[in-house]
Amino acid sequence: MVLKSRFLQEGHCNFKLCFDRLSNHSMGSLSLSKGNKIGVFMKRVILLVCLLFEISLTCCAKSKVSASAKTEPATATQPATATQPAVQEPVRLDPEIEKLNRVLMSMTDRCKEAIPNGDPAEFLADLHKVLEVEKAFPSDDLSLYYLIDKTHKVGADYEPKHLRKLVANDDYIINKTTLALREDADDALHEMARAAKKDGVTLDVSSTYRSYETQERTFNYWVSVDGLEEAERESARPGTSQHQLGAAVDFGNIEDSYALTDGCKWLNKHSQEYGWSLSFPQGYEDVTGYRWECWHFRYIGIEACKFQKKWFSDIQQFMFEFIDAWKNME
Ligand SMILES: [Zn+2]
Repeated sequence: MVLKSRFLQEGHCNFKLCFDRLSNHSMGSLSLSKGNKIGVFMKRVILLVCLLFEISLTCCAKSKVSASAKTEPATATQPATATQPAVQEPVRLDPEIEKLNRVLMSMTDRCKEAIPNGDPAEFLADLHKVLEVEKAFPSDDLSLYYLIDKTHKVGADYEPKHLRKLVANDDYIINKTTLALREDADDALHEMARAAKKDGVTLDVSSTYRSYETQERTFNYWVSVDGLEEAERESARPGTSQHQLGAAVDFGNIEDSYALTDGCKWLNKHSQEYGWSLSFPQGYEDVTGYRWECWHFRYIGIEACKFQKKWFSDIQQFMFEFIDAWKNME
């Protein structure tokens, strides 16, 4: 019982089959129910024929026994109405399994392919852990799981409710004096930076929260430097940037060469232990909308990082698309 193999082998995911182990809806009961309906239909037809041609009730009863032999131990002398079995109500699938079926079916093929083999019950248990953690997030602000990308935006007036200005400290270096993060993200950044320091690595923070207006200026700047097409690959249009959510950090020199630094190597190895996820990995520009950005990490919490790694091939975008779809599905 796997998710991925069904996707790959059948080219689609019929979770009525995929999830049969979880379901209390057996194919046996489905067959019996169908057989009963056929039996009832056949008996009614035979009864009608009998009445039309005024054949004796005895003959008619013999015919009925023959027609219904597969489904019930009817006797030849029983009248038709007495032998009709009660029509069984179909047993419904677990509603969560049905919902998972519908949500996964709505995902892109690339996302489906990214989901590894596994037990749907385990998937749902992990999902609920992630959603349980979300309940502790500030209720007066957007969730740390909020899906924002080229097609999911926030308004020009959106600003995180609990922004904290970053100041010089013993845990990490700030490369500007205008930096700010959500408080929960900054707390997590401090914790991660302290752990990095213990390993002899100092993280340096170059870019954090950006208002809509700042993002507009940033995007226009890159358009003027690289042209629109190239700018779209590495800079978000205003209203579509993770930086406007106040929980994303660009580390180091914000260039590909950052990947070669001890800081980036440490982040790649340990950031998820502290709830930080690489947003734009290599080879997923068609998924995220952005080319590889080895320096850009988003704080999403430890449980979500685990979920992303275990079930979505470690691709943040897939996980947030799934969570968004799950929340919006009836
Ligand atoms: Zn960034």
